[in-house]
Amino acid sequence: MSDGTSTTPVLRLESVRKTFGSTVVLRDIDLSVPPHTVTALIGASGSGKSTLLRCANLLEDIDDGAIFLDGEDITDPRVDPDTVRRRIGVVFQAYNLFPHMTVLDNITLAPRRVHKVARAEAAERARELLARLGLGDKAGEYPDRLSGGQQQRVAIVRALAGKPRLLLLDEITAALDPELVGEVLGVVRDLKDQGMTMVIATHEMGFAREVADQVCFLDAGVVLERGTPKQVFGAPEQERTQRFLRRFA
Ligand code: ADP
Ligand code: MG
Repeated sequence: MSDGTSTTPVLRLESVRKTFGSTVVLRDIDLSVPPHTVTALIGASGSGKSTLLRCANLLEDIDDGAIFLDGEDITDPRVDPDTVRRRIGVVFQAYNLFPHMTVLDNITLAPRRVHKVARAEAAERARELLARLGLGDKAGEYPDRLSGGQQQRVAIVRALAGKPRLLLLDEITAALDPELVGEVLGVVRDLKDQGMTMVIATHEMGFAREVADQVCFLDAGVVLERGTPKQVFGAPEQERTQRFLRRFA
């Protein structure tokens, strides 16, 4: 249970282990995400970043360890995963908007169905968020009329619509044309400035360096190195971290 102090991490992983069959994908992961901070997960493809985020959102069962959201053990089998997911916003690499629905309907679907928010209230919050993210004139559009960057910003609005405690962003710029990356990262920067707690899997090293409070380098399911961006990018201790980062130099 949360002790009510501001130092309770929003998210905490304790000795989390995840296997797929005989493959150990996460081993003994410890991670603590304090309120109003940004944690960047970096590491090669297949190192376990997405699996970690999926476990945090209870999209995957863990084999061992525990995960706490605001101090509550959400991996306790008595916890209803749906109530947990309502407190966490997620954005994936592919925008996953429903093509047959307008932007507004995409955003208000979950608040109306899952959170039981009234239509007018859900629409009002959606329009407010759209305006904040520079999409004020797009409420009535269908996704295929928007650029990739705009679609991904809509996906972020959708993740924010349920007023989450925590945002999990999984390589949200990886599928975008280079010239569209900036507008999406700008939104993440704004969210950080507004105090949103986030965990971000990313290959945008410059962005991670700028925006993260904590950087975790995952290697084969282990947090091999962690620290401030200055430590991890400026003076990585592990040879494997150095080798990984050289690719982005
Ligand atoms: P990353 O996001 O860092 O690229 P992932 O978390 O996607 O890494 O994958 C970590 C490892 O887990 C990889 O070896 C991947 O093949 C494996 N994996 C991920 N999802 C599954 C799954 N549903 N079934 C089997 N193996 C999986
Ligand atoms: Mg991934």
